[in-house]
Amino acid sequence: MIKFLDLQKITQKYAEEIHKAVDRVVDSGWYLQGKENESFEADYAQYIGTKYAIGCANGLDALIWIFRAYVEMGIMKLGDEVIVPANTYIASILAISENGLKPVLVEPSIETYQMDDSKIEAAITKHTKAILIVHLYGQCAYTEKIDNICKKYEFKLIEDNAQAHGCKFNGRKTGSLGDAAGHSFYPGKNLGAFGDAGAVTTDDEELAKVVRAVANYGSQKKYVFKYCGRNSRLDEIQAAILGVKLKYLDEDVAIRKKIAKYYIEHITNPDIITPIVKDWDAHVFHIFTIRTKKRAELQKYLADNGVQTIIHYPIPPHKQECYKEWNTLSFPITEQIHDEELSLPMSSVMAEEDVKKIINIINRFE
Ligand SMILES: *Cc1c(COP(=O)(O)O)cnc(C)c1O
Repeated sequence: MIKFLDLQKITQKYAEEIHKAVDRVVDSGWYLQGKENESFEADYAQYIGTKYAIGCANGLDALIWIFRAYVEMGIMKLGDEVIVPANTYIASILAISENGLKPVLVEPSIETYQMDDSKIEAAITKHTKAILIVHLYGQCAYTEKIDNICKKYEFKLIEDNAQAHGCKFNGRKTGSLGDAAGHSFYPGKNLGAFGDAGAVTTDDEELAKVVRAVANYGSQKKYVFKYCGRNSRLDEIQAAILGVKLKYLDEDVAIRKKIAKYYIEHITNPDIITPIVKDWDAHVFHIFTIRTKKRAELQKYLADNGVQTIIHYPIPPHKQECYKEWNTLSFPITEQIHDEELSLPMSSVMAEEDVKKIINIINRFE
């Protein structure tokens, strides 16, 4: 069986260093908000290219804290609208509605699966306050057109960088392209912890302060509470592990790109659409997506031939029960992607022969 993602094998690659890092924390007697957080936050901010990185409990919280901070700062208020791609993972949208803000869904492009920037202006109302771009599947969703729209209307530009650690636009990392970004270190992400973890990056000093406070009971000074916050801190153990894995991120991303290139060049089955890549710096292949009208048959055929695949994602957000009010809306491109998408095995530890095997199996599919 070729696994979709072999986390055990990924961990083995750095096992010795990770054990050392974990032992260091265990022996230190200090498990929250200590040296490991401080040093990972500094390293991650430097890696992304922002002044601040603030660790928190997970990627969903990172996005929630950005919007919460803007509400606390009086920059956004109940009922304000945030433009977001219709085909994103549910977390991007939950972070908006969690804060009493209204998500406004915009269709993606069928070529890149990223938000179609030609459809954004039609979605703007007098309540619009921000655009949340999502670097879905690991591909940069930022465009100069989106940036210009944000400048013209004075919107905040927020990035969901959960799937795109290491991705670049004209030499700048995603996560540093807008006003703030949320990052996830869920174990399966390109930079993954051994449990839940996340971070916010920004250049905005005030925003960084408020984010740090709301994720720590609303406190900036011990036992003094400025906001009604929550407990959403990053553990020292996770920070120590992430510090080790961050050093190898670029190396891992380079391997993913090599595998993606090989898949794209060698999958020749006319029933399969592989990703269209215009800029290899701007895609880190968190997920290697293919599309086909025969998805159910292909997924079963691959499983029968020992290849595990996953669908990202089977049901679009506007068809979910939690957003009942959207269930009658129609987003044809989003729905098409959800009907046709299939994700092939992809990781920095995949054996070359497994990649070749998968390609041969796919090319024989009819
Ligand atoms: C994983 C993910 C999140 C949420 O991250 P968690 O750490 O699982 O909370 C947010 N947005 C996108 C696009 C994701 O893939």
